[in-house]
Amino acid sequence: MNKQFAVIGLGRFGSSVANTLYSMGGQVLGIDVDEDKVRAVIQFTTRAVAADATDEQVLRSLAIRNFDVVIVAIGGSIQASIMVTLLAKELGVKYVVAKAQNELHGKILYRVGADRVVFPERDMGFRVARNLVSSSILEYIELSQDVGMLEMVVPQKMVGKELRQLDLRNRFNINVIAIKRGEHVNITPRADDCIEKDDVLVVVGLKEDLQRFEQY
Ligand code: ATP
Repeated sequence: MNKQFAVIGLGRFGSSVANTLYSMGGQVLGIDVDEDKVRAVIQFTTRAVAADATDEQVLRSLAIRNFDVVIVAIGGSIQASIMVTLLAKELGVKYVVAKAQNELHGKILYRVGADRVVFPERDMGFRVARNLVSSSILEYIELSQDVGMLEMVVPQKMVGKELRQLDLRNRFNINVIAIKRGEHVNITPRADDCIEKDDVLVVVGLKEDLQRFEQY
């Protein structure tokens, strides 16, 4: 991966993002006001800098606009997170991902130009709760505010039926994009594909439709 990332705010979330991107071969610049946080990520970043990212001069001198993606992972100070997001966009960064504390914070981040807003606590809470309620849900990924992707072990009543018979598109308004069977993944499911026991369906749809489907 030949991409350049800047992660601003190296708390638990930011350092985990930085660490993962770096281990996947990305070039990662980490920035935090707290020197201890900077020291803690030196091994897991290409470069780590102690600086206040709300200072426009700091961002300019780090040539922030040359980064492919900037991740604003400042949590505690909503004001700082908004300012940094705004500055990054004003300075010409093409893609800014910002972490939001709550819905209102998220709305403001979009308003000031964030290209994507993530809600790690809310999303993880949602996932954990879903998993507790339904052990058949293996994974849930939010694709946008309204749309998600779900991986689910097929319920017994689907076994032995063809996708055509199940008619999920019409009944639930969802799309089956893949069927996993052990190690094999069928990424072009056809209407006459038959569901077997222990198959895992990967489906995409509106959140509310996915929820209806889960209760099926
Ligand atoms: P997490 O849940 O990821 O641990 P958090 O929600 O508790 O984070 P904070 O700890 O407040 O959020 O912020 C994350 C990091 O952002 C902290 O290490 C903090 O020092 C850093 N930070 C805060 N303001 C700035 C700033 N203006 N410039 C650079 N880094 C900042």
